[in-house]
Amino acid sequence: MLRRTILYLSKAGWARRIVTGWGLARRVARRFVAGETLDEAARVTQTLNRRGLAVTLDCLGESVHQAEDTAEVVKAYRAALDRIQQDRLNASISLKLTHLGLDISEDLCVSNLRHILGAAQERGVQVTIDMESSDYTDRTLRLYRTLRDEYGFTNVGIVIQAYLYRSETDMRDLAAEGAHVRLCKGAYLEPPTVAFPKKADVDANYVKLAQDFLQAPPPAYLCIATHDEKMIAATEAFIRQNHVPNNRYEYQMLYGIRSSRQEELAKAGYTMRVYVPFGVAWYPYFMRRLAERPANLWFFARSVFAR
Ligand SMILES: Cc1cc2nc3c(=O)[nH]c(=O)nc-3n(C[C@H](O)[C@H](O)[C@H](O)COP(=O)(O)OP(=O)(O)OC[C@H]3O[C@@H](n4cnc5c(N)ncnc54)[C@H](O)[C@@H]3O)c2cc1C
Repeated sequence: MLRRTILYLSKAGWARRIVTGWGLARRVARRFVAGETLDEAARVTQTLNRRGLAVTLDCLGESVHQAEDTAEVVKAYRAALDRIQQDRLNASISLKLTHLGLDISEDLCVSNLRHILGAAQERGVQVTIDMESSDYTDRTLRLYRTLRDEYGFTNVGIVIQAYLYRSETDMRDLAAEGAHVRLCKGAYLEPPTVAFPKKADVDANYVKLAQDFLQAPPPAYLCIATHDEKMIAATEAFIRQNHVPNNRYEYQMLYGIRSSRQEELAKAGYTMRVYVPFGVAWYPYFMRRLAERPANLWFFARSVFAR
């Protein structure tokens, strides 16, 4: 109930205006967001890299409705790519199709994506297309396949959400195609007609999808994106028992969540990549992080009342 309310508020313009106008909320959001500028994101990336962690940089934003605004998004990603190259950062990038204009027109979105993918390919930087709510799953997968065929399987990756019933079929197809897939549980408000309503079912599906995909032949590559110790233990055990080579998968977590565990996994020899979001449009991302864990909401509330 609490999760559904917070996810509802993550889409409400009036709630965004209240929360983002509040200096305190901005400071609390900093736990999950590297900063509002590329300089801040680059500094965080350097620090994480020095600790043995790889990064994927996300210029925050989604649901853009003006074509002119998407040109700014392309500019921001190009600047991030330049910075990765100049500072020799160990970083890939992650992006959302609605940030690049998918709600305006598919052609505009593809054209924007091509600008970013072309620049990324020149600099040898990998790009992952995030997955948004189920209204976008078909279109996101279709555009991913088109662009992956143009720019290469290892240069472009896609996200699959274990809470969707359809993901078993999607993962099977992507494994056969040799795709680069990030598997997460899923962060949006979905009806029980499309997604498992119970966490236990999502968790069981996550383990099944990960284990099946880890058996796919190269170049299939799995990014195990979770903070859940049970998911990590189940995949680690499977990897060990089946001698899955370490160039076939990596672990991923979000910036600000279980940071010490991130370093532990890196020290244990796993590739560990941290998703580092930055930018001014942090509101929906921040609300999804609050929805994932009620304790975050209490942390937020405590900070408010402590003032
Ligand atoms: C690299 C990466 C990329 C992602 N990309 C997408 C995407 O494209 N589309 C999408 O729908 N979702 C995405 N997600 C979010 C994902 O779907 C989940 O909502 C999120 O990761 C929480 O699920 P979990 O696997 O960590 O397990 P959960 O069962 O939610 O959490 C397990 C444990 O992890 C810790 N934890 C989890 N979340 C938090 C939090 N917010 N704050 C503090 N502790 C927490 C807690 O200890 C919790 O008990 C991504 C996640 C990662 C790590």
